[in-house]
Amino acid sequence: AHLDRIAEVDGRIGAFLHVDAEVALAQARAVDSRRAAGEELGPLAGVPIAHKDVFTTVDMPTTAGSKILEGWRPPYDATVTARLRAAGLVILGKTNLDEFAMGSSTENSAYGPTRNPWDLERVPGGSSGGSSAAVASYQAPLATGTDTGGSIRQPAAVTGIVGTKPTYGGSSRYGLIAFASSLDTPGPFGRTVLDAALLHEAFSGHDPMDSTSIDRPVPPVVEAARRADVAGLRIGVVKELGGEGYQPGVLARFNEAVELLESLGAKVAEVSCPHFAYALPAYYLIAPSECSSNLARFDAMRYGLRVGDDGTRSAEEVMALTRAQGFGPEVKRRIMLGTYALSSGYYDAYYGKAQQVRTLIIRDFEAAFEQVDVLVSPTTPTTAFPLGDRVDDPMAMYLADLATIPSNLAGTPAISVPCGLADEDDLPVGLQVMAPVLADDRVYRVGAAVE
Ligand code: GLN
Repeated sequence: AHLDRIAEVDGRIGAFLHVDAEVALAQARAVDSRRAAGEELGPLAGVPIAHKDVFTTVDMPTTAGSKILEGWRPPYDATVTARLRAAGLVILGKTNLDEFAMGSSTENSAYGPTRNPWDLERVPGGSSGGSSAAVASYQAPLATGTDTGGSIRQPAAVTGIVGTKPTYGGSSRYGLIAFASSLDTPGPFGRTVLDAALLHEAFSGHDPMDSTSIDRPVPPVVEAARRADVAGLRIGVVKELGGEGYQPGVLARFNEAVELLESLGAKVAEVSCPHFAYALPAYYLIAPSECSSNLARFDAMRYGLRVGDDGTRSAEEVMALTRAQGFGPEVKRRIMLGTYALSSGYYDAYYGKAQQVRTLIIRDFEAAFEQVDVLVSPTTPTTAFPLGDRVDDPMAMYLADLATIPSNLAGTPAISVPCGLADEDDLPVGLQVMAPVLADDRVYRVGAAVE
């Protein structure tokens, strides 16, 4: 049914970069045989899934949305892919994304944009916009994404679905093509909070292959999504994430969601996180710095594209030609920004300073979580914007993640849950719920209460 739906609608939406019906049906039959042989399979066995094309998959290509990896077939599965395969999920295909997950609209993909199923002239968010569009348009019931600065929560919010950024280190980065390693976090998309929780649980947990993986039990997210009870819970509305720069219709739906939580017995208070105002500039030093280091591996020698290797050029010339053609403009901008910020003489002024700001943001969260159990805000300042609107204005594009970036810098978990449509444009609005490190269950508990 999902393959039929993809054939019917994806020509207009462009959520998938790769669909392989044969591979998908073979996986489905294999799950049937495992079940017939009496194997105990988890609750998602046989359920189809779409993977953001930044997780390696042995049976499908992996491009990270970049020309530099066009046609690359990974020799191994990412831990996320492998665990879901073992749990019996069936991979429908790989979804579109901003090149190397850098962007907020999926327009930075080298393979063309994805469209928002609510309005085909608008963006589905990014960078995991192929995954959000696939789930929102019923082409897949579940999808994976990665959230480095908001790339799961922001696309979930603007397509009216649920998306979670788990605690950093709670989900494995092994086999995830790296963007900014201290921030990159795999997470789930679903149409309901419980679906997202089931997927979260299925791929999370300690992985010895990822040196930053946390060796602790997975928080009880499924139980929390089923519980959906907020009586007595202390909820803090972040003073700095709202007001100026936020669309009135977004704020109206957000305020109603907060009132709903209060009517369900939560205790609501305003909480100030004064350094959140500096999260965006700190992120745009830290993320490009880490990207400039991570993307050095695309050197035309080891993987994918190789341009101009005709026996007349040096290795350096081949590398330069390959990188010039293989990387898109946003990726080049980030590599240049990061290389500059890390260069000797500037390191302390930029990268070092940004890391200090990061510490202040972590302390803001710690102080807030002494007063309340969770924090809430709108997920995004605006609803889905029109295609093309922000492509020539990186600063406007970066602002889409104003409210999501603090949780990445602090490593804390956060969810985006639909909370209605904005009056101005009838487009979905997301409520963001943020919790302390390893209290991922709380974001599901509150999210499920609002749903
Ligand atoms: N939009 C942000 C960026 O461009 C976040 C991307 C992400 O979370 N992968 O960096």
